[in-house]
Amino acid sequence: MTIEIIRCLQDNYAYLVHDAATGDTTLIDAPEAAPILARLAERGWRLARIYITHHHNDHIDAVPEIVAATGAKVWGAKADAHRLPPLDHAFAPGDTLPGGAEVLDAPGHTLGHVAFHYPALKALFSADSLMTHGCGRLFEGTAEQMFATIARFNALPAETRVLSGHDYARANLAFAARYAPDASALAVRQADLPRLAQEALPTTGTTLESERLLNPYLRCHLPEVAAAAGLAGADPLSVFTAIRRQKDNA
Ligand SMILES: [Zn+2]
Repeated sequence: MTIEIIRCLQDNYAYLVHDAATGDTTLIDAPEAAPILARLAERGWRLARIYITHHHNDHIDAVPEIVAATGAKVWGAKADAHRLPPLDHAFAPGDTLPGGAEVLDAPGHTLGHVAFHYPALKALFSADSLMTHGCGRLFEGTAEQMFATIARFNALPAETRVLSGHDYARANLAFAARYAPDASALAVRQADLPRLAQEALPTTGTTLESERLLNPYLRCHLPEVAAAAGLAGADPLSVFTAIRRQKDNA
């Protein structure tokens, strides 16, 4: 099985998961039809289905056009069905979907947000929850919910790749640098990101192992991170809440 990363709109990522043995192909999120349809045509793949992470326009707007062009079936969270495009299949956290995706509850950015974990691919499609070197803004959920979401993800194997919904890596890394990240991991990534930008390569797909060194939201239990947030001695949730608020005001 392989993953194709597709740049959409200004800074969104959509993903194709393709099984070469069966020809089965799934799209994760539908920000923009043209680049997604172009990639399918280029590869000669037939799209079987679309999995939706959450209801924001920049993740669902292209669903009707892609369905019209491909006949793909639409899958989304039952809890959010009222604000998603018409669903052919509704799922709930805990379900396992075709292709081997496990649906993980991921509230915080929105209340109905889900993530898709493919154990066989060692991949977590986290959209706007856990992101490269950061996490999504809290539009609907609480810091406590996002904290629990990220803690749930952090229990996955260290080599799991985090494939998020946006290319915010550069801004997130600049912010993460304030919170005592691992110095050598920071230096490597600071050198790498400009090269990725120059070569128009994706910034998404870092491992949990690397995020544990850089991403402040995975490091709230560390005394040096609490101190950097101005909350020496505070509990991890308080540190998490403070860092997320500091990001909103950054
Ligand atoms: Zn969103």
